[in-house]
Amino acid sequence: METPLLFNRIKDIYLRMARAAMKADRSPEEVQLIAVTKTVAVGAIREAVDCGLRAFGENRVQEAKRKVMSEEMQSMSEELAWHFIGHLQTNKAKDAVQLFGLIHSVDSTELVDEIDRQAEKIGKIQRVLVEVKLSGEETKYGVAEGALLPLLERLCRKKHVKPEGLMTIPPLLEDLNSVRPYFIRLRELRERAETAGFALPELSMGMSHDFETAIEEGSTMVRIGTAIFGERGSR
Ligand SMILES: *Cc1c(COP(=O)(O)O)cnc(C)c1O
Repeated sequence: METPLLFNRIKDIYLRMARAAMKADRSPEEVQLIAVTKTVAVGAIREAVDCGLRAFGENRVQEAKRKVMSEEMQSMSEELAWHFIGHLQTNKAKDAVQLFGLIHSVDSTELVDEIDRQAEKIGKIQRVLVEVKLSGEETKYGVAEGALLPLLERLCRKKHVKPEGLMTIPPLLEDLNSVRPYFIRLRELRERAETAGFALPELSMGMSHDFETAIEEGSTMVRIGTAIFGERGSR
């Protein structure tokens, strides 16, 4: 059963994503929608699956584990892709590697080493993105620009981790033209990394309030929670 409200919100987001892509001369297929389900109950995730969504983002390992392992999720026949988008502590890497297809938030050499170690144990090649911190105090996590290439070098020496792109969380600014430079900067950093020999097709950037701007600047993955599920706390 589809919830009309949820269905209409998702349809609206896909339309806006497509419009933003076309505005930038990009194909709408280049941009993937990741529905952010932190604090969202399993029943609502089920409804989102019924509306056609398959990729979901969580920011806490324990919360994600509880949901992914729930009977309701385990009994679903659809194949879902779980993305980890929060800050990952080294001691949670083991669970994260078991649960998530893509980890968006790699930001330290210790974490790279631990993910590689845990992935090797279960015979997996863990796909990851490197989170880059582009603003001073607003974003707490992520590597500084200057630490990006050394971290990518370390990643590329690992057999069980595969870097596929970059992620950033810009400061929460009302004025979209103030956010745009952060998206441009992440794209430029990707270009710089590619010039240095690292293939990084994915750019994870854009949330409910700024995803169209992010898509105009090259985003390939938008992480959207509120615009799909409503305000957190009032759902
Ligand atoms: C919560 C969250 C989002 C989604 O934010 P909304 O404003 O609800 O769309 C995206 N990315 C990260 C890292 C988040 O923690």
